[in-house]
Amino acid sequence: MTTAIPYDADATHTTPLTFEWTCVASGDEVSYEATGNCPVCGCAMTRSWTFGQHLLAKGGFLGRRDEPGPQPYHTLCRCRTTHLGRPPQEEFGCGALLVIAPPTPEAGPAS
Ligand SMILES: [Zn+2]
Ligand SMILES: [Zn+2]
Repeated sequence: MTTAIPYDADATHTTPLTFEWTCVASGDEVSYEATGNCPVCGCAMTRSWTFGQHLLAKGGFLGRRDEPGPQPYHTLCRCRTTHLGRPPQEEFGCGALLVIAPPTPEAGPAS
């Protein structure tokens, strides 16, 4: 982990990354948390997605899915390192757009 890598909003990493998925179920809502290292800056990062009808009824947010599905996940790097030149409105990350491989079925909620 180093702060020597500057923030770069143009950085992308298009090869799907194999992150470790953690699944948390509460009520009819399921959260999947992907944890791994950003390949661009090398920092550890975690990003979570929530699925289910519960929050959708309250409006949800753009891009929410009902189920995890087989599609890869796109996210900006969410590491907590302060990278040089990061815009003040960005709270996390090095600016890189990452593609994370979807959770395997085994990572799903135990039923
Ligand atoms: Zn990064
Ligand atoms: Zn970083």
